Amino acid sequence: MSLLNRARIPITQTSAFLRFSAGQQQVRHLNLHEYQSKMLMDKYGVNTQKWRVISNASEAQKAAKELNAKELVIKAQVHAGGRGKGTFIETGFKGGVQLCTTPQEAERLSAEMLGKHLVTKQTTKDGTLVQKVMIAESVDPSRELYFAILMDRASGGPVLVASPKGGVDIEAVAEETPELIFKEPIDIMKGVQPEQTLRLAKKLGFTGDKVAVAQKQMENLYELFIKSDATQVEVNPFAETTNGEIYAMDAKINFDDNASFRQKQIFDMRDVAEEDPREVAASKFGLNYIGMDGNIGCLVNGAGLAMATMDIIKLHKGTPANFLDVGGGATADQVREAFKIITTDPQVKAILVNIFGGIMKCDIIAQGVVSACQQIGLKIPLVVRLAGTNVEIGQKILKDSGFNIITAVDLDDAAIKAVAAMNK
Ligand code: ADP
Ligand code: MG
Repeated sequence: MSLLNRARIPITQTSAFLRFSAGQQQVRHLNLHEYQSKMLMDKYGVNTQKWRVISNASEAQKAAKELNAKELVIKAQVHAGGRGKGTFIETGFKGGVQLCTTPQEAERLSAEMLGKHLVTKQTTKDGTLVQKVMIAESVDPSRELYFAILMDRASGGPVLVASPKGGVDIEAVAEETPELIFKEPIDIMKGVQPEQTLRLAKKLGFTGDKVAVAQKQMENLYELFIKSDATQVEVNPFAETTNGEIYAMDAKINFDDNASFRQKQIFDMRDVAEEDPREVAASKFGLNYIGMDGNIGCLVNGAGLAMATMDIIKLHKGTPANFLDVGGGATADQVREAFKIITTDPQVKAILVNIFGGIMKCDIIAQGVVSACQQIGLKIPLVVRLAGTNVEIGQKILKDSGFNIITAVDLDDAAIKAVAAMNK
């Protein structure tokens, strides 16, 4: 079982294609809301409908009037896709994407969505709180298509993906009619070539002078992808309207976290409200954290050791509450913060520290653990297994701390003791 499968983060939030690409790695990708993505698209000349975003239903009428459109579409802004077919938990109201014609209706529909939790195929069963709603001019699509650009491991670069079967779940299309998905791998040094967008435009069924318009939209999306260090730009539906215009009706863009240093404007748009607060806290201190559903908090160094620790906990009938990797060169401060994140999680009933000291020395870990206990107290059982560099000094620090720390000799012993301590 892969690490991502165990994680509580909804991996379905990324498309099926992404699982073959960079998304498989243990990296976090910045997620933007549709309205934020559309702001970027506007900047790169990608065609979007006019829109406004509101966070209070009382602002809906004004926004609707400004748009001055015959028909409006009201869209819940959450990071997950599949909103159109979603349901609001509190009310049972169906559909996070709604059409209407009057400002009054726009207000009523916004009120149905704001402050409620929307459950879609891509959220957890608890859904996501809707804090913003987009009001956009409605367009009348004659055809709903699919277009995406992904960083693809198989071809070692970006790949354009297009399908005439858009508007629906692309995962389902890939499964049922894979022949309707077309790909064009891009040589990142040369960039996207006109013959590539021409082939895709034709496969998407554009004819006449629409072919060139569609090609230009694909080029603009590619420029956005490259210039903003995206790992995924997914437009579904990519639509042709009854009056012959081409629109990006929905947008989902993910970015490479490693590029955050040069994409400040984009990363400043991060909405942490939808992220696991423990992951947000961890990333602030340069720690790798993934929350899970169990109750044994794990503090380890190295992804491999983390995986092994989780497996052994499971073997001994426990369930890990998280994956917290302090990495190779953590400081005592980082260890303390890591420890705080674990202990402030109410579902954690026991803590297992499993450190193999190489570059990371055992005494540093021990200092961090003790200093965290001093700051926040130790209310649940703590099992520590240290091995490697400075192990004796580390063990002495733990012993002299006065806290009731259970030590373990190896991984098996540690897991058994953690599970037992929790069940006492
Ligand atoms: P999601 O993918 O989260 O369900 P979309 O933005 O794709 O959200 O919207 C779902 C469906 O709603 C679209 O496939 C399209 O049929 C319709 N829709 C979305 N935006 C508009 C719009 N501006 N005008 C008309 N219909 C729209
Ligand atoms: Mg969509």
